Amino acid sequence: MNKYISVLLLFLSFGANAQSSKKSKTDVPPALSSITEKELRDGLFAQAGTHFRGRAGGTIDELRAAMWMGKRMQEEGFEPAGDDGTYFQYFSLLRHRISSTSTILIGDKSLALWKDALITQTAPAEVNAPILYIGKTGQADLSKIDVKGKAVALQVVPDDINLNVSLPEWRYSRSIMNKYGNDLIARGAVALLFIADEYGEHSWPYAQSNNILGSFDIEGGGRAAPPVAAPPVIWLHPDAIDWIKTEGLQLQASLHIESFTYPSVNIIGKIAGTDPVLSKEYLVLSGHTDAHGIRHVIKNDSIYYGADDNASVNVAMFATAKALKKSPGKRSVLLIIHGAEEKGLLGSRYFTSHPTIPLSSIATVLNGDMIGRNHPDSAAILGSTPPHQTSATLTKMAYDANKEGPQFKLDTLWDRPDHIEGWFFRSDHLPYARLGIPSLMYTTLLHPDYHTPQDSPENIDYKKLKKMTDWIYRTAWKGVNAEQRPATNTDFKLER
Ligand SMILES: [Zn+2]
Repeated sequence: MNKYISVLLLFLSFGANAQSSKKSKTDVPPALSSITEKELRDGLFAQAGTHFRGRAGGTIDELRAAMWMGKRMQEEGFEPAGDDGTYFQYFSLLRHRISSTSTILIGDKSLALWKDALITQTAPAEVNAPILYIGKTGQADLSKIDVKGKAVALQVVPDDINLNVSLPEWRYSRSIMNKYGNDLIARGAVALLFIADEYGEHSWPYAQSNNILGSFDIEGGGRAAPPVAAPPVIWLHPDAIDWIKTEGLQLQASLHIESFTYPSVNIIGKIAGTDPVLSKEYLVLSGHTDAHGIRHVIKNDSIYYGADDNASVNVAMFATAKALKKSPGKRSVLLIIHGAEEKGLLGSRYFTSHPTIPLSSIATVLNGDMIGRNHPDSAAILGSTPPHQTSATLTKMAYDANKEGPQFKLDTLWDRPDHIEGWFFRSDHLPYARLGIPSLMYTTLLHPDYHTPQDSPENIDYKKLKKMTDWIYRTAWKGVNAEQRPATNTDFKLER
C-alpha cells in the first residue's frame, strides 16, 4: 500500500460515511465520475461519422479530423505541445504508386490496369518475355522447371494457405507470393502471372484498393525512396486460363512509378503535472486519427469509418486527459493522436524521431487500438508478456487498475510472442517501446468488421467503452502519481 492510499484511508476512517466495503473508495481516482458514456458516444459519432469520410492518412479528410481534434484540445484547455506553440506536428508522407501510364500486353491483348490485371507490387518494370505456363500452385513441381528469363504463369488453386487470420483478403496475394512467387523470382523468372482462383477473385477488390494506393513512408524509412525495378507480379481473372496456354505468347509490361508527397499530422496537447520535479516527466496517452477512407463497397457501404479503429481509443484518451486536467497528478500528461498509423505507424515513428519533448522525459506510454467491441467482460492488455513486456511495474499498475475497477477477464493468448496476429507489433506504442519506454496497448481485439465499412459507430458497445476508459484512466492515475517511474525490464526484447 503506498503512502497516498494510507493517508486517504486515515482520512476516510474519520468520515461519517466511511464505507467498509472490500473495494475501498481509496481505489477511486478523483475525476472518475467525470467520464461518461454519453460523452464517449457523442465524441465517437462525431469523429467516425460520414462527414470525415473515413479519415484516410494523407487526405483532406484526415486533416479535417485532425483540425477538429486540435480544436477540441483547445476547448478543453489543454496546452498546445506540437511544433511552434501549436497543437500540430506536421510531417510528410512519401507515396509511390503504379502510374496509370503503365501498360500490359499479353500477345496482342491489351489489359486494363486494375480491371483486367492487378499489380501487387509497387515497383517499375520493363519486361518483354515469353510466357511459360507451368500449371497449378501446390501441384506442379516448380523446382524442376527452368524459369530463367520467362514470364511464369501459374493457376492458383485453393491449397493450404491459412485464411484463418485477420484481413485474409488483404494478405492473400502476399501469402501466394511468399509460398510460390519469391522462389520463382530467385530462380530467374522475370515476371509472374497468377491466375486467380475463387478466393483470389473474392480478394481482388481488396488487393485493388491497397495496390492502387501504392506504398507510403516517412523520410528515412525503408520505403521512402522510389522503388527500384523488380519483376512484375500480375494477377489475372480465372478466365485467363482459357488463353494463357496459347503457344508463343509474349508478355510486354511497362510499369512506371509516380511519387507524391502529402501532409499528415500528429495532434498534441499537454496537461501540466503538479509536482515541481515529477512534472518534468510525462505519461503519454496515444491514439490515431486515421482510418481507411473510402474504398470498395462491402455490404452497401464504402466509408471505412474506423469507429472501433481507432475513434474508440481517441475518445477514451480524450476523456482520460480531461479527467487528468480536472484533477491533475504529479507527472505531466501528453495526449498524442497520431497521424497515418494505418500507413505503417508513420505518425508515431515521426514523433519518436522528432520529439517535441525530450524522449528521456517520457515515463510511460498508454496506447490503445480498438477498445469497443467483442464480449462485454473481456479485454486484453498487450505488452504484458515477456519478452516484449517493456515493464513489469507498468503491467502491474494496469492489472491492479483492472482489479480495482472494471474487472475485465483478461485474454492472455493474444499477447503471446508466438500468436499468429502479432497484435502487439501493430500499433503506435511500438516505436516508443523500441526505445525501451515502458508501453502498453489496450485492446478488445479484432472482429470481422475490422477494416470494413461495418466498423461504424452504431456497432460500438458504449458500456464496454466506458469501462475500458475507466481502466485507462485508473492506470494513468497510478502512472502520473507513482513515486518512481516504471522501470524497463532488463531482458526486454522486441522479437517475434
Ligand atoms: Zn488502429
